[in-house]
Amino acid sequence: MKAAVLYTPQSNLMVEHVRLIDPQPHEVLVRLQATGICHSDVMVIQGTSTVPMPVVLGHEGAGIVEAVGEDVTQVTVGDHVILSWAPYCGECFYCKSDHLNLCEAYAPRVLDGVLLDGTTRLRSSAGEEIKHYSFLSTFAEMTVVPETCCIPIDRDMPFAPASLVGCAVTTGIGAVRNTARVQPGSSVAVVGVGGVGLNIIQGARIAGAERIFAVEINPAKEQQARAFGATHFIDPLAAEDLIRSETGGLGADYAFESAGRKQTMEFAYQLARRGGTVVFVGVAESTSMVSLSATQLTRSEKHILGSFYGGAKPSRDFPAILELYRQGRIKLDELIGARYTLDNINEAVAAMRTGRYARVVIEL
Ligand SMILES: [Zn+2]
Ligand SMILES: [Zn+2]
Repeated sequence: MKAAVLYTPQSNLMVEHVRLIDPQPHEVLVRLQATGICHSDVMVIQGTSTVPMPVVLGHEGAGIVEAVGEDVTQVTVGDHVILSWAPYCGECFYCKSDHLNLCEAYAPRVLDGVLLDGTTRLRSSAGEEIKHYSFLSTFAEMTVVPETCCIPIDRDMPFAPASLVGCAVTTGIGAVRNTARVQPGSSVAVVGVGGVGLNIIQGARIAGAERIFAVEINPAKEQQARAFGATHFIDPLAAEDLIRSETGGLGADYAFESAGRKQTMEFAYQLARRGGTVVFVGVAESTSMVSLSATQLTRSEKHILGSFYGGAKPSRDFPAILELYRQGRIKLDELIGARYTLDNINEAVAAMRTGRYARVVIEL
């Protein structure tokens, strides 16, 4: 099969023939139909995030089950699926307490670029091992993944918008619904209006937030932010004053950070009112540290919440999100700024790096 392989940071992806080893027990072979390019993929290509290489990136995909390994019970051949990048063991403390996104089997394997049994299924044509990325490696015609990554969907659901539910959409909407549990009538500030930020905005809208402040440095994003539900679009320099004046001098009930940067995380903390809730959604570089006023941490009683993958339980949340889409209550197609083929993936990455698009999608 063809796949886009990254050999070293800050280089082009090489679209080449790659060998895929058959699915092992509890694994599934998926013929991919669409994959989004996420900011996390771009960070690896840029070299701002490091993973074992060579690697096939991509972690936002949808496709059709082509074959299953032994003991697979969750899907059968022919099923249409969205891929979740958070497989789980079902046995650990977190799985048993229904926090599947925090499964202990996940973390060591994802860092090593291997599947749950510690080995890989990808080989170059010369037989060299190629690493997986987030268990999914969706920049390819096919992939082998743990069965708990496969969430079946209806066959009439188009693959391109479905693929985005695998990362950006669930991360954003889940942060609002699962992590923060935003209340009707509240005020919400969203720092950063990328693919995840737009989904926080539309999540806040369907939660009934009254005022939704999109805080974004790039004025070109205003129209889209408003279309997704933002009631205000503000430059960061004006944000603190404007949000205060619009909330009776208090600050936002909820402040979400979606950019994954130290400065914007500290800024989001400032935008929440005393007693309000700050939600960190963006994933920052592993070396970065945030600094917050030690006095204010206590005195302001702000609730600081981390939200990883929107606190999602994919088997529950993916179908719920698709139902909102079917009812016309959330936008998915509008997230897709441009569509490319696998052969043109480097152009697609370049388009994503311009910051002009919430998402670009590769159709396979
Ligand atoms: Zn992602
Ligand atoms: Zn587990």
